Amino acid sequence: MSATADAETIVLEHFTLIDGMGRPPQRDQTLVLVDGRITEVGPAAEVKVPSGATRQDLRGKYLMPGIIDSHVHLGLVDGIDQNYTKYYDRENIEQQLKLYAAYGVTSVYTLGTDGDEIHNVIADQRRIGRIDTARAFTAGRGVVYKGSYGGVPGLEQQVSTPAETQAMVRREVAKGDDFVKLWMDDEFGDIAERMPYPISKAAIDTAHELGKKAVAHIFYQENAATLVDQGVDGFMHQVRDGALNPSLASKMKAGDVWQIASTLSREASFTYKLLPFVDDPFFSRGVAPATIAALKSPERQQRLASGPHFAKYPEVLTKAMANFGAMAKAGVQYGMGTDSGPTARFPGYFAHWELELMVKSGITPLQALTAATGTNARFLNARDIGTVEPGKWGDLLVLDRDPTADIRNTRSIHAVYVAGRKMPTIWQTCTGRPADACGAAPK
Ligand SMILES: [Zn+2]
Repeated sequence: MSATADAETIVLEHFTLIDGMGRPPQRDQTLVLVDGRITEVGPAAEVKVPSGATRQDLRGKYLMPGIIDSHVHLGLVDGIDQNYTKYYDRENIEQQLKLYAAYGVTSVYTLGTDGDEIHNVIADQRRIGRIDTARAFTAGRGVVYKGSYGGVPGLEQQVSTPAETQAMVRREVAKGDDFVKLWMDDEFGDIAERMPYPISKAAIDTAHELGKKAVAHIFYQENAATLVDQGVDGFMHQVRDGALNPSLASKMKAGDVWQIASTLSREASFTYKLLPFVDDPFFSRGVAPATIAALKSPERQQRLASGPHFAKYPEVLTKAMANFGAMAKAGVQYGMGTDSGPTARFPGYFAHWELELMVKSGITPLQALTAATGTNARFLNARDIGTVEPGKWGDLLVLDRDPTADIRNTRSIHAVYVAGRKMPTIWQTCTGRPADACGAAPK
């Protein structure tokens, strides 16, 4: 491949490649980036380095695609105060997308709590291409059955009839939604009625008419089974009301329905009155000191511990992990998603925690990494991201230690690239305070 004289050519050399497609790590690889896109990747001995290229020796490092988080919410919080009406704006959205990138999460799928501003952000991202934040894909305003579970206060997204549902999905997809989200839950029975099936059917059918996938928040096995019959394309949480029925897994497999978001870190976070990693620098560098203080406050811990459902969550987590493991074993396609973004579910850090919990649920580190990259990209047919292959954006994560040997090594972030440009990593920045207040990065 010949590059034009003024093209920016970067060559990353001699790393061990984890390609996002599930192949075993390949040693001593080299890749060429021209104007932010991968043009060549292969054994260092075979890749011809173009003259005039900027060369980076990555001997001893591990290079993988940037992580994709398939389930987040953007712009909802300031610290741990959640309020869509107060905080949802472009500045907050882009600040969070920068934080994701600092953690090596170079793309996120945002799940149904977006106002119209997201479409301006995404339109600009796709026009510019070589951006300096994580990329976003959106389900816009997800479909909430009026008075039932889901969505966020202050965002117009409730429907009462199939006709209203059809109209809403058409209106929102016309704004640029990448896919369609619906919620079917009742908060452990606290809410009188879950979304009725004629509403979910209208949402799914309308999404499909418009060429979009439809995904669902579910909790109950019986709802998941019916949604599969209605043609849903993916689930954004595990079934959590009991052990996975093998017939549901078979139906999902037969119907090409993906368990696209794992969200084990979400359930895990609910089991703690104080998150166990608040003083871990990999976490604390990503949040403001006031947030740490708020998390540690005795009043908050007391309030969480006396919450109506607090005691249920250890079992919910156990079921979610068992069911995730069973789905994976049954051959259902699965991705990696955290549901971070709402209060106390933290952008970036949770993706690394999620990978760890997926591995604890019975898959290998390499399988977890593939879920979080190539598989997540394939679900939305996001052709420019997710694997290390010619033609893709150079959205890359470079690690000091081997994540296939220990999944916790995804935290050993050496460099993050978005479209071939280095982003400040979480070890180089310190969100919310002067960088020198954070201390040196442990090696
Ligand atoms: Zn969510």
